[in-house]
Amino acid sequence: MLSTLASHPCTNRPSLPFPLRLSPPPFVPLSRHRLPLHSCHSCHSCHASPSSLPNSSASLSLSQSNSKPHPPPPPPTTLKIAIIGFGNFGQFLAKYFSQQGHTILAHSRTDYSSIANSLDNTIFFKDPHDLCESHPDVVLLCTSILSAEKVLRSIPIQRLRRSTLFVDVLSVKEFPRSIFLERLPPDFDIVCTHPMFGPESGKYGWNGLPFVYEKVRIGDSHERVSRCEAFFNIFKKEGCRMIDMSCKEHDEIAAESQFLTHTVGRVLAEMRLKPNPDDSMGYDTLFQLIENTCSDSFELYYGLFMYNKNSTDLLDRIYAAYEEVKKDLRRMVQGILRRRLFGTTGVGELEDPAARCEAFLESFNKEMVDLDENATGVHFVALTIGMILAKLGLKPTSIATKGYETLLKLVEDISSESFDLYIALFMHIKNSNELLDQLDISLAKVRTELYGRLHDILRRQLFDQPGIISNGRTRM
Ligand code: NAP
Repeated sequence: MLSTLASHPCTNRPSLPFPLRLSPPPFVPLSRHRLPLHSCHSCHSCHASPSSLPNSSASLSLSQSNSKPHPPPPPPTTLKIAIIGFGNFGQFLAKYFSQQGHTILAHSRTDYSSIANSLDNTIFFKDPHDLCESHPDVVLLCTSILSAEKVLRSIPIQRLRRSTLFVDVLSVKEFPRSIFLERLPPDFDIVCTHPMFGPESGKYGWNGLPFVYEKVRIGDSHERVSRCEAFFNIFKKEGCRMIDMSCKEHDEIAAESQFLTHTVGRVLAEMRLKPNPDDSMGYDTLFQLIENTCSDSFELYYGLFMYNKNSTDLLDRIYAAYEEVKKDLRRMVQGILRRRLFGTTGVGELEDPAARCEAFLESFNKEMVDLDENATGVHFVALTIGMILAKLGLKPTSIATKGYETLLKLVEDISSESFDLYIALFMHIKNSNELLDQLDISLAKVRTELYGRLHDILRRQLFDQPGIISNGRTRM
């Protein structure tokens, strides 16, 4: 490995514009201090360039011409993986990759050298040219959704081996698929993936967590196929649930559920609810949801908003569902009060929801005199969110994140807990109206943040750098 990294491509292969060997040599762990940087930026003859590359079948026929038939070698056990975008998620992946013995070549807008130094087999490259000249097997795009196109453009792909495998981990999938196909030369392999977990939801391991992928373009050669397998093996080894799904299908299923999950997490976080140390009602998962979504950057949330065409509509539907829940609640409370003031409505007692609810209230009040205010408040807010989600008609999906599973569970719980209990909690808690107002304010705040950002970016593009909007895409 050291010699592969150290050798200048010109001296070894003066007449060939690309290396003949597609599979990497066996991995030998290196001290990062001994990894030399290849910095001959002016030398183009020894690197792949999108326009000057001969096609890959030529390279393969050369490499295979003298070989006798023999069983194909197993996939390489270690890979040299470049992580472009070494932020929250990039570092999280790097820890697992390096623990499995892979070599990590990291690059990011920010200098993360010291973090890279704290990981095994990891080196940080301030200059992407140096990184590309170290010829990674895999380039993993791990930047924010919004910066992905700009960052991809900034990678000097002409310095990579032309057989390089490009992978992305963006939380939306059709967008990276289309920029990869648009930007990368046809010899590069492409895989689009979405590990559907993050540093919080995957902090105790990845076992059983969904890893969605589409092999967009993988060359036929054994080396290319087995390199892709070797990359997938990283996730298989950790126990991920591997789901082969097209980017289109992923976005149809996941875009809405992810955006909804993050919105609920952020709205609840705005409410600053306090967890109850003796939570007997099972709402610890709700606090986990808050933690999981809010430990992700606003940038990520905004990316989910921008790249889900239904997000504005979904925000409106959340508002409308919330208004309906409040209307149901107030109608019922008024019904009970009217019964008390004016007696029965003439409807049979069993068919009158207000009568049934009043009876429930009386028994509830007798039994629940000592309820903890905070715990009851959390329960009430959780039920409100559950009611809103039920009105939105959430559906289970095969690729649910842990957060979305929490939302589905909430809906399931409220279908077994009757609306009567909801009214009872509303009446029992002194500040329940305040809690509803807080929820209103939090929802509005999150929405304003999203639209404010949208307004800001568009204004900057229109007035600071007119003409920068192209292909209908918003650039950072
Ligand atoms: P993020 O906020 O979505 O992305 C942060 C990364 O983007 C950092 O590496 C940052 O670089 C880079 N970046 C942001 N703006 C940039 C710009 N203008 N120019 C260049 N680089 C820029 O947070 P993340 O959690 O690390 O996510 C990274 C990617 O993984 C995203 O595409 C996300 O959708 C995906 N993903 C995340 C999770 C998760 O749970 N976090 C799960 C699955 C997939 P610097 O740090 O150097 O500034």
